[in-house]
Amino acid sequence: MTLYYGKVDQSACIACGRCQLLAPRLFSYDAEGIASLIPDHNAGTHELTASEQIAFKLAYRGCPTGAIKRANTPWPHD
Ligand code: SF4
Repeated sequence: MTLYYGKVDQSACIACGRCQLLAPRLFSYDAEGIASLIPDHNAGTHELTASEQIAFKLAYRGCPTGAIKRANTPWPHD
């Protein structure tokens, strides 16, 4: 399985709650409902494990605004 990283672009998050429903162990929210990735506090530096990738994909595909990002290298990206 390809290794990759994830992150929420919080400027694109509309606080709909869908990612937390789909992947409750991976996504949490701040007081305004803006999502973040739990394992690395949304830094984008945590290499998602095989089981995390399954849950991540559900949220990635389910996010209505495309705010959930994935990449093959850790953040920050130039
Ligand atoms: S599904 Fe997308 S828009 Fe909805 S809370 Fe999660 S990151 Fe934000």
